Amino acid sequence: MTQLPLDVPTDLFIGGEWRAASGGDRIDVTDPADDSLLARIADATAEDATAALDAAVAAKQEWAEMAPRTRSDVLRSTFEAVMDSADELALLMTLEMGKPLAESKGEVTYGAEFLRWFSEEAARVGGRHGVRPEGGADMVVRPYPVGPCLLITPWNFPLAMATRKLGPALAAGCTVVIKPATSTPLTTLAVVAMMERAGLPAGVVNVVTSSSASKVSKPLMADPRLRKVSFTGSTEVGRILLEQAAPNVLRTSMELGGNAPFLVFDDADLDTTVTAAMQAKFRNVGQACTAANRFLVQRGIAEELTARLKDAVDDLVVGRGTDEGVTIGPLVDDDTVAKCVELTEDAVSRGAKVLCGGEAVDGPGHFMQPTLLTDVPPDARICAEEVFGPVLPITVFDTEEEAVAMANDTELGLTSYLCTSDMVRARRVTDALEVGMVGINIGVLSNAAAPFGGVKQSGLGREGGSEGIAEYQTLRYSLTPL
Ligand code: NAD
Repeated sequence: MTQLPLDVPTDLFIGGEWRAASGGDRIDVTDPADDSLLARIADATAEDATAALDAAVAAKQEWAEMAPRTRSDVLRSTFEAVMDSADELALLMTLEMGKPLAESKGEVTYGAEFLRWFSEEAARVGGRHGVRPEGGADMVVRPYPVGPCLLITPWNFPLAMATRKLGPALAAGCTVVIKPATSTPLTTLAVVAMMERAGLPAGVVNVVTSSSASKVSKPLMADPRLRKVSFTGSTEVGRILLEQAAPNVLRTSMELGGNAPFLVFDDADLDTTVTAAMQAKFRNVGQACTAANRFLVQRGIAEELTARLKDAVDDLVVGRGTDEGVTIGPLVDDDTVAKCVELTEDAVSRGAKVLCGGEAVDGPGHFMQPTLLTDVPPDARICAEEVFGPVLPITVFDTEEEAVAMANDTELGLTSYLCTSDMVRARRVTDALEVGMVGINIGVLSNAAAPFGGVKQSGLGREGGSEGIAEYQTLRYSLTPL
């Protein structure tokens, strides 16, 4: 078994105790670069999940009534612990998820920021106070914690997806059961151990890892003591959870799939565009909900931009994320590699040309060649489906209206990117795009201080910013005659 860079608990965390799953089963966690074994973690049963909710319910009053500053201190101390172990956490993330080490270091800084940001927000929870318009009475509106929450996270950003939910939930005064992705649970377990050392009271955060997500989530979703589910993952699973949330009218936050268009206008600066495009497409090996999925390029700049992108893609280095100089690590599994190849072949069958890459890389591990496609027709499957890998498809357009229509021709609406040197155009196009977030002349826009989230089938709610904490609060209005 590979030696891990820091002590990671491999049991469930329930009511402040680390314990094995009640059925005694374990799940192998492996390195996607070579399938070697990293750890064997507890495989929770439905009974374990209920025990985790019991603990969250038992702790909810004390945590909700605790001074906001005390809750804030726990988050702040965890932020400091994460930053003190930044190198070790980054290596752990690269081992379990595969992304290049430099990107894992970036995720530690980004993910930790949600702990610091919400430690600050915890002490700033306000409310509203006013006079009834008719006079003669005082109106008070105050936020309260929504109650015990179920947090379900995906594998692609093992630290940031956990802290983006834990930060606001704990700041608002909610207790939680968190279920990390089965393939990348170690980073979450390490961070929760840091929270425990930072003084988190027993039962406030409970972790259940499981080989079957629905085995643990279904009984919790049906339990009327659960007050909220916050999910990040595919739109397909989001729909299942929304159905399960309906009987109890459960509050939901849904961060789902994306199909981000990357628009380039003739007046764009080429250097800026290439840098933004490479980041938006190849960061995290293309496995990001915010990843640019389709490149829509105006005819006048298309030839030169394509040549520049080909040079940049040729310079990418495929390999183990821990190796020096590697910029493209492994994909999460063989199915993801197969999907990249399938969508490439579909585009080619409809007339697209492969300028570089296009094929899977022989094992061990799950690697795909960085791929550049041109002449991709808008009806190719890759324009409609999330590719989740290092494939960059280019489609040419003539007019702004045509570009906006193509960009909006999807049921998903998370992120969009646009490159132009005309800021009036940038504002006009931003207004016309049906998305929750727009990067203008930049390829990465997530920030703990900004509301992250989408429209249409990309989800419900926002994470981060001053808006993020409201997802975990409910309002109570009271009226007092004077
Ligand atoms: P996924 O939907 O397969 O899994 C996400 C999480 O849900 C995992 O923890 C998984 O174990 C769990 N899960 C799976 N089936 C479940 C079920 N029936 N009931 C309850 N839980 C279940 O997604 P993934 O493959 O882990 O992640 C990739 C997807 O996540 C992509 O579509 C990507 O766009 C999306 N994503 C969205 C955001 C965002 O903020 N909008 C961020 C990252 C990833």
